[in-house]
Amino acid sequence: MDAAEKKVRAFVRVKPTADFAQDMIKFGPDNKSIDIYIKKDARKGVVNNRQTDWSFRLDGVLHNASQELAYETVAQKLVSDALVGYNGTIMCYGQTGAGKTYTMTGATAEYKHRGLIPRAIQQVFKAIARSVDSFITVRISYLEIYNETLFDLLSPTTSSATGDVPMAVVDCPRGVYVKGLSVHPVSHEEDALNLLFEGETNRVIAEHSLNKNSSRSHCIFTIYIESRCRVFSDVRCINSKINLIDLAGSERLSKTGSEGQVLKEATYINKSLSFLEQIVIALADPKRDHIPFRQSKLTHVLKDSLGGKCNTVLVANICGEALHVEETLSSLRFATRMKWITTEPVINVTCDPEETVRALEKEIILLKQELAMHNNLVNRSLVTYDPLNDVQIAEIKSQIHKYLQGAIDEIDIMNIRQVQEVFKQFKLIVRQQEHEVEARLRSKYALIDKNDFAAIAAAQKAGVVDVDRHLMGKKDGQEFGTRTTPVSPKPDGKKKKSRKSSEQSKKEGTRSYLSGRELAAPLPSKSQVTIPTRDLDVKERARSEDTGNTDVQPSKPASAEGSQRPSSPPSKPVAFEQFKEECGSEISRIFKENKSILLARKKRSSTVARRINFIKQEMEDIKKALEAQRQERWQQGEYVDEKGHLIIDEKEFLLIMKMKDLKEEYRSAYAELQDLKAEIQYCQHLVDRCRNKLVAEFEIWYSESFLIPAYAQKALKPGGNIRPGMIPINRVMCLGGWQRNAGRHGAESSYLETRLALTLAFPWRGQNRTR
Ligand code: ADP
Ligand code: MG
Repeated sequence: MDAAEKKVRAFVRVKPTADFAQDMIKFGPDNKSIDIYIKKDARKGVVNNRQTDWSFRLDGVLHNASQELAYETVAQKLVSDALVGYNGTIMCYGQTGAGKTYTMTGATAEYKHRGLIPRAIQQVFKAIARSVDSFITVRISYLEIYNETLFDLLSPTTSSATGDVPMAVVDCPRGVYVKGLSVHPVSHEEDALNLLFEGETNRVIAEHSLNKNSSRSHCIFTIYIESRCRVFSDVRCINSKINLIDLAGSERLSKTGSEGQVLKEATYINKSLSFLEQIVIALADPKRDHIPFRQSKLTHVLKDSLGGKCNTVLVANICGEALHVEETLSSLRFATRMKWITTEPVINVTCDPEETVRALEKEIILLKQELAMHNNLVNRSLVTYDPLNDVQIAEIKSQIHKYLQGAIDEIDIMNIRQVQEVFKQFKLIVRQQEHEVEARLRSKYALIDKNDFAAIAAAQKAGVVDVDRHLMGKKDGQEFGTRTTPVSPKPDGKKKKSRKSSEQSKKEGTRSYLSGRELAAPLPSKSQVTIPTRDLDVKERARSEDTGNTDVQPSKPASAEGSQRPSSPPSKPVAFEQFKEECGSEISRIFKENKSILLARKKRSSTVARRINFIKQEMEDIKKALEAQRQERWQQGEYVDEKGHLIIDEKEFLLIMKMKDLKEEYRSAYAELQDLKAEIQYCQHLVDRCRNKLVAEFEIWYSESFLIPAYAQKALKPGGNIRPGMIPINRVMCLGGWQRNAGRHGAESSYLETRLALTLAFPWRGQNRTR
């Protein structure tokens, strides 16, 4: 939609006349503007400064235009928009005799002189005849407003003047409507035209019987269109209406020289038209939030038909004679004001909820029929698609248990509901098992929420976890290792005792135990200094076998007792052994302890697994034996007691009993295996963490003991001249090769960078971490 379409459209139609004031009214070359020239009134002398020339720009000027052209210009687009759901309003405005009724209804004498209403009816019914995918229904109403009273032109007896039900304009969420106004369904063009003529006739009759003057009333002919999609599942309903309005004559009161009844009529007309003008001005002002639609019946009825969500078109009917120039000017002014109103037409779509439910029910029935047919074709006639009942759910449950125990190999898929239920049951079992495992672990170990600092502090106090929240011992107080010195939350308690080899270390901060997760944080020097886990295992073995270091040549083993820094650092394997003897002894012991627990559980697990396999084999054998027994029984003939129970011999009976026992044994072994698996997983996790911690601790110990020179240690100390953060992080992160530099050239800057890298990666180091 372009900008022009977002405004009310206004046209001017000039009534053809013999005395057309050619020197007074001029049309623009594009037929979209009209200029009015009035000669200065000589009598008013030199002070007469009234404007004498006017130029009006509109959407089109219809001069000597046929009814057909008038329809095409003014109404055709609006009607086709209405057929897809946009409301539309066409109004004819102008002085009496200017051609409003001619434009709207037309001259009845000749077919080609028919006006906008019969042509709109024709377009609507032609569209209905062409439409294949929607049901379109049409209804008609014809309302007259005379002296602020509503009249139903299609049911004169129910007009508010004489009828039982007083007609009234009613606001409702879906728009305004006239309560009591008859709305007539029509299925053919002729029916609609008949209603138009009936309305016209009633108007003429009322003119006589009620002494009305038709030029003083406003008439609103409304075509209601309702369109539903023929696809039954599409329950959208598109509603629209086209208002075709023949307004009362707009001539000013003074000119008519009216008295009495005529004066009263003229007052009402002028009032309602001036209210209409006020509404138009208000609508054109974007800052106005209140539009006084209820001031008059006309404006109230037109509340949802003027601008806004509706396509609106105005036709200003003017007479071309010089005599009527004032009225012509006033009509043209009104038309230009109308053009200021912006519109944002929207399609009126509704969804009837009841209709929706009905359509969906119908669709479900159809789909079920289709499924049944499909099942019949593939011989699955017993499948149902209703929700599962309790018996069916219980059956699924038992099937799953059998499946988990290995009693059945697979679960047959029946339908979607059954598959969903199977998943649901699996979920329940998994949850249940999770709880059981957790409960078992809780009964054995002290588990502490990592984020619960109070609990951690309490546990640290009790010596259950170390400062890095690692589990140190069993709940019952029995520790993994045979530690004599429990980790103390006091930072220096342990360090001073173990760091005999390095004098700098005495001035250092807290020795930290780094967890696996912490190690996962950026550790810039890791690629150079980390001993791979595999290496570590090799060393573990090496230590127990006392084979020493084979892979790395230590230049000079570091003296653990020496108070002087060695001239060159010891090889890592040597240093590692030393580390494990001294300050790493605690973590090393825990690590070993954890490993041995893990090993024990793994051993037990494989024993149980072997046992299970053995039981399975035995069950298999008994099954075969039983089968043979059965075969024999059948061949020899079966015995039945007086109650009809089958009699079996003792051998078969013993086999059955044995089978039962084995099943029981299998079940308990299986359960134990499951428990062991969970425990192994947990222990493995502990071992991994311990290993990571051991390696990380060693790395830090190694670099601080052998690589960082004394002056650098001093500088890094609290109060020293280098603080973490002084070297940009990107510098820290690209510290590759520091070890090479450190070893060969003793580059001091590299030592500093390394120390800083460690400090930045583990900023808590050197602080009291009991907080
Ligand atoms: P209004 O409804 O504005 O009072 P009418 O539509 O009744 O005016 O017109 C008055 C007369 O002028 C009628 O006889 C009508 O046929 C004639 N008339 C109006 N406009 C035209 C036109 N465009 N072409 C031919 N005749 C017209
Ligand atoms: Mg008229």
